[in-house]
Parts: sequence; C-alpha cells; structure tokens
Amino acid sequence: MSSPITVPARAPTVGFVSLGCPKALTDSELILTQLRAEGYETSKSFAGADLVIVNTCGFIDDAVKESLDTIGEALAENGKVIVTGCLGAKTGDSGGNLVRQMHPSVLAVTGPHATQEVMDAVHQHVPKPHDPFVDLVPEARADFRGTAGIKLTPRHYAYLKISEGCNHRCTFCIIPSMRGDLVSRPIGDVLGEARALFESGVKELLVISQDTSAYGVDVKYRTGFFDGKPVKTRMLELCEQLATLAEPFGAWVRLHYVYPYPSVDEVLPLMAAGRVLPYLDVPFQHAHPAVLKRMKRPAYGEGGERNLERLTRWREICPQIVVRSTFIAGFPGETEEEFQTLLDFMREAQIDRAGCFAYSAVKGAAANDIPGMLPMELREERRARFMAVAEEVSIAKLQRRVGATMQVLVDSAPALGRKGGVGRSYADAPEIDGTVRLLPPEKASRTLKAGEFTRVRIVGTQGHDLIGQPV
Ligand code: SF4
Repeated sequence: MSSPITVPARAPTVGFVSLGCPKALTDSELILTQLRAEGYETSKSFAGADLVIVNTCGFIDDAVKESLDTIGEALAENGKVIVTGCLGAKTGDSGGNLVRQMHPSVLAVTGPHATQEVMDAVHQHVPKPHDPFVDLVPEARADFRGTAGIKLTPRHYAYLKISEGCNHRCTFCIIPSMRGDLVSRPIGDVLGEARALFESGVKELLVISQDTSAYGVDVKYRTGFFDGKPVKTRMLELCEQLATLAEPFGAWVRLHYVYPYPSVDEVLPLMAAGRVLPYLDVPFQHAHPAVLKRMKRPAYGEGGERNLERLTRWREICPQIVVRSTFIAGFPGETEEEFQTLLDFMREAQIDRAGCFAYSAVKGAAANDIPGMLPMELREERRARFMAVAEEVSIAKLQRRVGATMQVLVDSAPALGRKGGVGRSYADAPEIDGTVRLLPPEKASRTLKAGEFTRVRIVGTQGHDLIGQPV
C-alpha cells in the first residue's frame, strides 16, 4: 500500500532590505543565512512577504533618513516590519528609541550584530517552518556563515568581519555608542569562515572591522585554536594565516580600516612578499595635530609628521604599496592654516586613493559641542580644494602605471569578454576605488570571465580608471 502524499505548505517568506556599510552587509548575510537554514524563503519585495526585515544605517543624517523612509515604505506595503542595525540603537529626541518614536507600529527593533534577537522576533511573528530534514541538521551558529552561508556580494569576493565595535571615541563618530566597545571574534571562527569562503569560490577576501589593527586587544591577544594548532588573536598572526589559506586558491587578501600604529610595520613584509595585497586602507581623517586632537583620533598627538614617517617606512619595506584614505574637511574650529597643513600632507604623503567629506554634524556626536562650527559653504569649498589636490596626486600615480603589466580580477565580462569587461588590480578595492577597463582580448581564442584573474598590459588612463589590454 502506498503512503499518502502530503503537499507541503508554502514556506514562509521574509522580505529583506540591507542598507549601510560592508559591516552592516555582513550582519545581513548572517541573518539571511540563518533564515535559509531554518527553511524561510527570502525576497527583495515587500508585498507578498509574510514579514519584512530592514537592516538600517544610522551613521550620517542622509543614511538615517533613507533608513526611516525604507521602514515607512515597508510598513505601508506590508505592515509587519522588524528593524535591525545601527539606527535601531539610536536614541530619539524624547530619550526613547528613535525608530519606535518615528514608526511606533514596527514589530521589533534591535541594534546591529543581533542575529539571534532578530531570529527570535521572526519566530514570534512568523513561526519557524517545520521541515523534518532541516530539523535534523544541527543548529547553525548565529555568528558564522559557514560553507552554506549567504553572501550579498558577487560570488568572487566577500567581506570578512573580524570584530565588532570600537574602543576609540572620535568626536565626530557615534559608532561606539551604536556598536559598543571592541569585541574580537575568536580567531578560530574567523579563519574557519575564511577557509569556507575560499572553498566556495571567493577570490578576494576583504577584511573589515572598525579598527583592524586593534584585533585582539580586548582579549589581550589571547591564544585561540585553528585546526588544532594554537594561534594568537592578533593582526599579524591573522594576516599570516589568511595568506596561507588563500595561497592554494591563488586568492587575494585585502586589509581595510588599518590605523598607522607601529605594529602594522610587521605586516608589511607579508605584502612585500605578495602574500597579502600591498594595499592599506588607513583612515587618516586629518594631518594637523590640533585638529586630530579635537577629533580625538587614535594617536592624535603624533599628527601628520609621524604619519608621514610611517608611510615612508611602509614604502621602504614594500615599495609597491597602495594607500587609500579618507579625510574630513571643515571640522569645527579648522583654521585656514590647519587646512593648509592637510593639503601639504596630501601632496607629501602621495596617497593613491583619497576620499573627503565636508564635515557634517551627526546627531549625538561630541564634535557638535566643539566651538567654531564653519559655514557649510566653507566646508564644501575646502572639500573641493582638497579633492582637487587628491585627484592631481592620484591621477599622476595612475599615469605612472601605463606600460606596466598587472594581474586583474575580472568583475564583469559579458559575452566572454568579446566586447571587453571591467576588472580591478591590487590597487582597487571594490565599490570605493577605480577599476581597470578591459579591452577585448586581441586573440579570438582568449576569453575573459567574471571571477577569474587575467594579466593585462596597461595602455592608458581614463579619470580614476586604468585601461588594460589582456595579454
Ligand atoms: S576609530 Fe573613531 S571613527 Fe573609527 S569607529 Fe572608532 S570611534 Fe568611530
């Protein structure tokens, strides 16, 4: 006798919106991975979903507005909304939670890095589907993507978050009040995730945190274990291990948010040897000691002079190093002379890739109480003057690459690259730097594919991009 066939009920669907920086993106990946592991389906649309999760950003006023608008849209179109992320940790004017104040009908609000709390709220409003096969699988870890994890980046690159929060208290920043003090992830978990990502086809791993050079400070560089071997929770050991894991896959490891501490010098030999990409994303923010002091930047007393010495040292150890940085123009109280120091630093430091914001007052930031807020037009004018110098430096450096042969990771190449494509060299991080525009290969038999490496001869420049001929 045949057993009766039961038609399974439709799997519950959760709409998901991810806003904000790469750190928020990795939180989204963890939540989506957990949802999938439990049998929920996900969609990008609000209508038709059983519930919507909005992962918000609360960093600058524009981001707050975008997040609040998205929550409003989700409520209007769906009605059942859970809010997570940085904005969820923000306080409103009346002292209560800002999101609840603006949108009282949301089902739940959590801060960032709160996969378990988000899942608890989901379970409460849309019960977990019962699947006898899924239910036999051991519980997925809420802080680990593993091999089956969901990534929101293209298949060939991934962000690897090594810690949460920050021990510094820069006066323009509200991240510590939203994400708390530094909490380093155990080194064994970080390396396990990196290996799983390489095994799943990732060719470029982007290490992110609020302060990568501070990795392990909170746990006093405790010795953890990976593959049964002891490894210290420290930036140098992390980089060495990541380089070893990346090597069999020929993959890249790129470091973001590194501070110019003397200890970073130890990582430079790994870059000179080509084991970690010779690329450092160092948020200098300013160069004048008095402004750095008002900003309460880490190691502020040292100022631009000391940072120039550090850059010189790094270039001695690894001449091919590319440095990216961000700066703030028009910080409260910034004099013309202080701003000139910043311009001089930019010229001398020869920063390859620089971004600059005109100072914008972030609600809740201590910098708002510093006397001498500059008019917006002046802040914008200084930003434009800074960018003119930065572009001059950057374009001159790009032009020096013409004639060189570089390895490029292809990001897109429709029709096997017959019409060319777009890629990046070690000097270009995705989303924030330039690209290498790829010409169609000269030989008809030569193809280009997204996610593969190719060698190109640099034949020209175009704005912030290089033009490369596959060889
Ligand atoms: S180092 Fe400063 S700017 Fe960066 S997250 Fe920490 S407090 Fe914010």
